[in-house]
Amino acid sequence: MSDVIIIGGGPIGSIVGVLLARKGIDVLIIEKQKHPRWKPCGEGLSREGVEILKKNNLYSPVKNLFKNINSISFSILDTCIAFREYDTPIAYTLDRAKFDQALFLYAKEMGAKVREIERVKNIIILEKVQVKTQHNIYKSDVVVGADGVNSIVGKKLYRNWASNEIGFTRVARYRLGNPPQTIKSDTMEYYFIEDGYGWIFPRREKKYLVLNIGVATIDSYKIQRLFDQFIGTVESTKGIKLRGHEIDGKLWGHLLPKEGPCRGTYTNSTLLVGDAGGFVNPLTGGGLKYGTLSAIYAAETIIKFLNNEIESLETYKDKWQKSIKSIFDKSLELRKKLYFIGPSELLKKIQRYPRLKEQLLQSFTRETICENRSKTQSMVV
Ligand SMILES: Cc1cc2nc3c(=O)[nH]c(=O)nc-3n(C[C@H](O)[C@H](O)[C@H](O)COP(=O)(O)OP(=O)(O)OC[C@H]3O[C@@H](n4cnc5c(N)ncnc54)[C@H](O)[C@@H]3O)c2cc1C
Repeated sequence: MSDVIIIGGGPIGSIVGVLLARKGIDVLIIEKQKHPRWKPCGEGLSREGVEILKKNNLYSPVKNLFKNINSISFSILDTCIAFREYDTPIAYTLDRAKFDQALFLYAKEMGAKVREIERVKNIIILEKVQVKTQHNIYKSDVVVGADGVNSIVGKKLYRNWASNEIGFTRVARYRLGNPPQTIKSDTMEYYFIEDGYGWIFPRREKKYLVLNIGVATIDSYKIQRLFDQFIGTVESTKGIKLRGHEIDGKLWGHLLPKEGPCRGTYTNSTLLVGDAGGFVNPLTGGGLKYGTLSAIYAAETIIKFLNNEIESLETYKDKWQKSIKSIFDKSLELRKKLYFIGPSELLKKIQRYPRLKEQLLQSFTRETICENRSKTQSMVV
C-alpha cells in the first residue's frame, strides 16, 4: 500500500515522484521500460521550461545536458520566411534518454519507490485504487496517470483520444562527423510542409553534430511520404547525406496530443499529467514544459488532499486552467491560421499579412523573449 502510485516513469511521472517524495509522501512509480530508453521527441526545451525546472529544484540532475539555442528560423518548404538571432539562449536541446533517466534516478534518490520493466495492465477504482501489473496488484489512495499519449489511465477513466485530437510524427536522429557549413549548431529550424510541419533541432556532442529531424501531420497515411520528402529536401538544400546514418539505425513513429487537455484530467482519486493529460502546446508540439507544469500542480494538489486541506482533486484543474489554458487557446487560434493550409497558400497569406510572421516568432519564443533583446533580425519574403 502506498499513498500515491504514479503509472509511467517518463520525465513527467518522475517529476511528480520527486516533488511528492521530497515531502515524505509514500510514492511508487511503475515504469514498463528500463532506463535509459529513448522516447521519440524533438529534444528541444524553451528557456522558460528550464527556468521552471530551476525554480522547483529539478535542475541539478539534468543541468549538464543542455546545449544552447540562440536563433530560430521558419521556412515554407525550402524558402526561409523568418530568421532571428538573440543575445542569450532562447531554448536548449538535450538528449532525451539521458534527461529521462536522470529525472527517474532523482525521484528514486528523493525516496520514491520504483519498479521498472513492469507494465500496468488495469486499474480498478474501489475504496482504494487497485493497480494491476503482470506481476502484482498495488493499492493506493491516489493514482497519477503519467503513462504518455497511449495512457491506460486516460482510456480507462475517460476515453481514447478521438482521431482529430491526435497528430502523427516521424523522427530520426543523425550523427554527423563533419558538420556542414549549412547548419548552425545553435539554430532551431522549423518548416511548413504539405499537410504539416517539420523541424531540424541540432545539438553538438563532442566533435559530432547530432541532428534531430522530424515531421508531424494530422494524416497517418501521409506521414511516411512526408518524412521521406522532408529528408530529401534537407539533404539537397543542406548538401548532406542523412539516409542510412540514423542513430540506432532507426526511424521512430509516435503519436502526439494536439488539442490540449480536452478529455478530463482528474477524478476523485486519479490525476492525468503530461501527455496522458494532453499537456502539449497545440502550436509548437512542445510537451516537456507544460507537462512539467502539470506535474507541479498535480503534486501541490495531492499534498493538500492527503493533508485533508482540500476535499477533492478538482484544485488540480483550477491550477492548470489558470496557468495554461489561455496559452493553449491562443496557440490553437494561430495554428488554424497557419497550419495545414498548404505551403503556397501559406506563402501568399504571409505576404498579405506580414504580422503573422511576427506572431509566429513571438509564439515560439514568447516564453523567453521578454528579457531577451534580439541581436539580428532578418525577415525574408
Ligand atoms: C516526435 C515528437 C517530437 C516532440 N518534440 C518535443 C520537443 O522538442 N520538445 C518538447 O517539449 N516536447 C516534445 N514532444 C512532446 C514530448 O515528447 C512529450 O510531451 C513528453 O515526452 C511527455 O512526457 P510524459 O512523461 O508525459 O510521457 P512519456 O515521455 O511518453 O513517458 C511515459 C512513460 O510511461 C511509460 N508507460 C506507458 N504505459 C505504461 C504502462 N501501462 N505501465 C507502466 N508504464 C507505462 C512509458 O514507458 C514511458 O516511459 C515531442 C513529441 C513527439 C512525439
